[in-house]
Amino acid sequence: MKYDVIVVGAGHAGCEAALASARLGKNTLLITININNIADMPCNPSIGGSAKGIVVREIDAVGGEMGRNADKTLLQIKMLNRSKGPAVRSLRSQADKVTYKKEMLNTLQHTNNLTIKEAIVAELLVENKKIVGITTEDNETISCDACILTTGTYLKADILIGDKRTPEGPHGEKRANFLSGNLEKLGFKLLRLKTGTPPRIERSSIDFSVLSREDGDDEELTFSFDDIAYYNYKKQEPCYLTYTNEKTHKIIMDNLNKSAMYGGFYEKLGIGPRYCPSIEDKVVRFKDKERHQLFLEPESMSYDDIYLQGFSTSMPHDVQEEMVHSLKGLEHAKILRYAYAIEYDAIDPLQLKPSLETKVVENLFTAGQINGTSGYEEAAGQGIIAGINASLKLDNKEPLILSRSDAYIGVLIDDLVTKGTIEPYRLLTSRAEFRLLLRSDNADLRLSEKAYKIGLLSEKRHNMLLHKLKEMEEIEEEIKNITFPQEKLNLSAYLKRPEVKIMDYLNKFSKEYSKEALEQVEINHKYEGYIMKAKKEAEKMKRLGKKQIPDDIDYNKVDNLATEARQKLEKVRPRTIDQATRISGVNPSDIAILMVYLKRFYNE
Ligand SMILES: Cc1cc2nc3c(=O)[nH]c(=O)nc-3n(C[C@H](O)[C@H](O)[C@H](O)COP(=O)(O)OP(=O)(O)OC[C@H]3O[C@@H](n4cnc5c(N)ncnc54)[C@H](O)[C@@H]3O)c2cc1C
Repeated sequence: MKYDVIVVGAGHAGCEAALASARLGKNTLLITININNIADMPCNPSIGGSAKGIVVREIDAVGGEMGRNADKTLLQIKMLNRSKGPAVRSLRSQADKVTYKKEMLNTLQHTNNLTIKEAIVAELLVENKKIVGITTEDNETISCDACILTTGTYLKADILIGDKRTPEGPHGEKRANFLSGNLEKLGFKLLRLKTGTPPRIERSSIDFSVLSREDGDDEELTFSFDDIAYYNYKKQEPCYLTYTNEKTHKIIMDNLNKSAMYGGFYEKLGIGPRYCPSIEDKVVRFKDKERHQLFLEPESMSYDDIYLQGFSTSMPHDVQEEMVHSLKGLEHAKILRYAYAIEYDAIDPLQLKPSLETKVVENLFTAGQINGTSGYEEAAGQGIIAGINASLKLDNKEPLILSRSDAYIGVLIDDLVTKGTIEPYRLLTSRAEFRLLLRSDNADLRLSEKAYKIGLLSEKRHNMLLHKLKEMEEIEEEIKNITFPQEKLNLSAYLKRPEVKIMDYLNKFSKEYSKEALEQVEINHKYEGYIMKAKKEAEKMKRLGKKQIPDDIDYNKVDNLATEARQKLEKVRPRTIDQATRISGVNPSDIAILMVYLKRFYNE
């Protein structure tokens, strides 16, 4: 049997990749270890958060599924940083892990051109440095023209609890034993990374009466730009807040030598995420902090597990019991699933092109945790781009590459393939120099036209985009004629004042406009100066981005380049001058030398 595209792994990256490839008309096979574990959330039961929530809206804007799936299955939703500027506002929802998987499986099963298969891929078949198929651990061979690897935290995964190392995937799932070795043989450099998860507590064993309650926002908020109310915002589940205390910190410090990460049991350990530290890391690193905040989050309405967010650990079970029982409200808690750390193999993302095709094997793409990132949203964002680009590659079309001023997904991928990473990479607003342009509210305006042009956005969604743009034009016209004689101003100028809200002047408009279009106009006027400045910077970067660097350039022939710059340029082999400017160790003087060289020898 032969497929156009084979996607290996049905996690958050794999689902988006397979849907994009199938929706673009490619005969797609999605192979995964356990069909009942599709779109699994092995860690926090939430979608979104700072920067991540904007990625989910971007995925939706380019025709992806995560936003819609999250809206259909959420237990609670909030707009984070509401009191701050629009550049950092971001949605975060509590998802029902059970219905999230069911909904995604249902969508996959009802997608044309998409076949789902349960198996473990053991080997990639490559001829003349080009992918031609895969072989499973049961020795079944399946051919393809392109393949997308999205194996997450499963490649040679080991579970670490205290001094015990168990070769296993997350929460008892099978791991992938052979693909790592095959990738190394093909010439890939692998990274050994690590992450961790907290214990799950039985809901009925917690004394919520002594904890503070955290409710969702009392308004309808959605990740998806679909105009469908996928949930009833009046029916949201609460989360609760507790804290560690002196007693917790003492138990951790007294037993630090028993923790998998601090016990010295293993010669070499995978590198963990700086921005998702274990509770041991927090207590050790921030000794002066008297307490650390912990959220109690519902995992699903179908079972009783409460997720203890912020308390991931690799301590042995008996110490975990002591640690949990030291927490307010959890004195009599029953641990249903113990915390653990997990180590797994990933590839060095400097071996990727900005299209997420590998430089090592043609028509082989990778997306998600395998590229050194951490997070459902980061994975899904890469997955949809890999799915789109595998399809475009088979059609001999130019890849879709989102720039740093187009999308957080663009920032994410550019950081990976240009700077690389040695620890699990998590997206942060601080990573995006154009964050004022990359807002949650305008993801459709930034990206949907691109998705429509490549055929991934529905007619209906495209018409909604055109309607919103038309509304924005009409509002711009109207606010010029809404005047405030006392202030000798019209609403267009008046909106620049921080305290002025466009929603307070709806009665002055000739007709009703959508909240979204009104919000856009208000933001564009209130932040006009900053937005213009950012757009100018982005244009400059785009112009530099147009300066292509030929694939066959020999950096040894470029005189006067600094040695470090020559080595780094050779390793990353940037596609454009713009990308070269972001490689650490390549200085402006090296860029100037390179541009002179390109002009002289390539007339670039
Ligand atoms: C214990 C744990 C704790 C985590 N903690 C955090 C955290 O605190 N913060 C955070 O941001 N992220 C955390 N994560 C990471 C988060 O789960 C991932 O970022 C996200 O799930 C990555 O999505 P993915 O699609 O790349 O891979 P995954 O969701 O891991 O999915 C990979 C899929 O590939 C399949 N697969 C793998 N190998 C093969 C093969 N050879 N053949 C066929 N199928 C295969 C698997 O069955 C699985 O369905 C944690 C993950 C784990 C396991």
